[in-house]
Amino acid sequence: MDAAGAGIGAAWRAASQRIDRLDARLLIEQVCGVTHADLIARPETPLTPAQAALLESLVARRAGGEPLAYLTGRAWFRDLEFLVTPAVLIPRPETELLVNLAAERAQRLETPRILDLGTGSGIVAITLARLCPFAAVTGVDFSPEALAVARANAERHAPDVRLLAGDWYAPLAGERFDLIVSNPPYVVFGDPHLERDGLPFEPQCALTDGIAGGDGLACVRSIVRGARAHLEADGWLLIEHGYDQAERVQALLLAHDFGEIRSWQDFAGIDRVTGGRRQ
Ligand code: GLN
Repeated sequence: MDAAGAGIGAAWRAASQRIDRLDARLLIEQVCGVTHADLIARPETPLTPAQAALLESLVARRAGGEPLAYLTGRAWFRDLEFLVTPAVLIPRPETELLVNLAAERAQRLETPRILDLGTGSGIVAITLARLCPFAAVTGVDFSPEALAVARANAERHAPDVRLLAGDWYAPLAGERFDLIVSNPPYVVFGDPHLERDGLPFEPQCALTDGIAGGDGLACVRSIVRGARAHLEADGWLLIEHGYDQAERVQALLLAHDFGEIRSWQDFAGIDRVTGGRRQ
């Protein structure tokens, strides 16, 4: 069928046969620069041949399992829209738990210094900077491509966030923070989950430590091991982790002399964040 000739309404119907109806709508709105209201009230609005060709390629990619966020280049986290590319993970709603726990603690301090390790698109660092206007927030990431995305997001939403390239604490010699947070790679390498739900399109180095036969916690270990040297006395370390890792993360914190160790559940009731306080 000639979708271009038939207008945006017909293009929406045709795309909805191949992909989720809402995804189809969002792609058409983006490609054609129209609104939901236009689609309903003016379905005959024509597509240019270039728009029709672009839409066709995006619908085909979505039908092939590519996440919508990589096709639109945008994703929401809490109340903010962020730029995303395949160099960064797509924000997950469960990460709001990490941000909320961190914000509660930071808001008790006058001028908290916050560190976000493995910042990726920067959602955690940037959201915390906005929730805690007097905080000095630093994000670190190993990937220059991810940092470029984080920089673009910071420029838009929280220009004072400091973003540094490096391996965990490497760029932070001699610096201490009141709060260290991280949503590190934690999916066990080889977990079938990595083959599903669009995860093959996401940066594997942000999802898993890549260690065959491992427990997925190599990055968490690096973060916990280095935390003491970079936390103020009484400072908190908060780490997001997988559904069955809370006990092992608690044990790691205990082995590194943390106090007030506990885990918190996400909205699905799954232990999702574990933390402790430097004592
Ligand atoms: N929660 C993500 C998932 O299971 C993984 C995020 C991460 O590894 N940091 O898809």
